[in-house]
Amino acid sequence: MHDFIPVNEPLLSGNEKRYLEECIETGWISSEGPFVKQFENDFSARMNRSFGISVVNGSVALDIAVAALDIGPGDEVIMPTFTIISCAAAIVRAGAKPVLVDCDINTWNMDVNQVQQKISDRTKAIMVVHIYGLPVDLNPILELAKKHNLYIIEDAAEVIGQTYYDKPCGSFGDISTFSFYPNKHVTTGEGGMILTDDPEIAEKCRAKRNLCFKREQRFLHDELGWNYRFSNIQAAIGVAQLEKLDGSISRKREIGKRYLKNLKGINNIQIPVLETDYAENIFWVFGVLLKDDKFEDAKAAMQTLKNKNIGTRPFFWPMHEQPVFHKMGLFQNESYPNSEKMARQGFYIPSGLAITNDQIDIVSDTLIELFS
Ligand SMILES: *Cc1c(COP(=O)(O)O)cnc(C)c1O
Repeated sequence: MHDFIPVNEPLLSGNEKRYLEECIETGWISSEGPFVKQFENDFSARMNRSFGISVVNGSVALDIAVAALDIGPGDEVIMPTFTIISCAAAIVRAGAKPVLVDCDINTWNMDVNQVQQKISDRTKAIMVVHIYGLPVDLNPILELAKKHNLYIIEDAAEVIGQTYYDKPCGSFGDISTFSFYPNKHVTTGEGGMILTDDPEIAEKCRAKRNLCFKREQRFLHDELGWNYRFSNIQAAIGVAQLEKLDGSISRKREIGKRYLKNLKGINNIQIPVLETDYAENIFWVFGVLLKDDKFEDAKAAMQTLKNKNIGTRPFFWPMHEQPVFHKMGLFQNESYPNSEKMARQGFYIPSGLAITNDQIDIVSDTLIELFS
């Protein structure tokens, strides 16, 4: 049998080691080191934004985004139910209320047609989350935001290097956020970024990242912040990763297209769409959705693949079905059928940047054997 094929393995084959050695040799390892500024500048420039504020991960980037827009008690934020908990957690921790919409069953992204009916007097922002490498259809949402004077928070963690009608994802939010976890297209081990064009918002984010030290007098505080500072060591890896982003995106598209070609004959599964009017998929992950009535759920399929030395991960479990939120009295009796189906019948297969074409073919053959 072949060796275990992990669901993701990052590729650190560029200047990562050289830049890390530079950190050691110069002694610059903290957030004060020069790679931090360079990474913030390079990353924000790549995404056509004025300001980049690096942080320790993508989850706290969302916490800062919500706080910097003064979202709090009494406010509502519209967001997809099919996403990672970090999105809803940021809103709930701020004392505001997440208001959910279902996902589209073909693109797996938030159903933009459901947003309008969720807008109320209390709505303050729409949190857009691009899912699995394909962007949300942003134009209808941007229009609604303009009409109703709402902020856009754009979570672009899964679309680093993707575009929407040829403009970079991450360039659309009043605040846009990213993660550099090892399965993201740019990784720093752990890490995150906040982008904005507004100098006041940028300043607020910077302050909140750094304990809200007062500029005029250190150790004096008007507000509470956090220590979410990014280190020079992380930034050194980030600078090297960003240099390779175009190549990484091309490779991700190759991986995705190879799977699409290999798997297109299987009738019992739904696989990602190659493209829409506004973007070509970059296949951040390669999802497989079991079709109705053929299989009970994804768990059995994932176990079978594990026995065949193939790693998988389940899809997100939707926010309206999270016990932690039910305990808070949120989302009780709410139902979003597409997301519920996705959670039970979806999983993703190995597609990290280090995967080889042979491994893709082994995974594909195994799926064909299993589902045909
Ligand atoms: C990965 C991810 C995050 C969280 O990032 P961390 O760096 O793991 O905290 C947030 N949102 C989305 C959509 C993600 O995919």
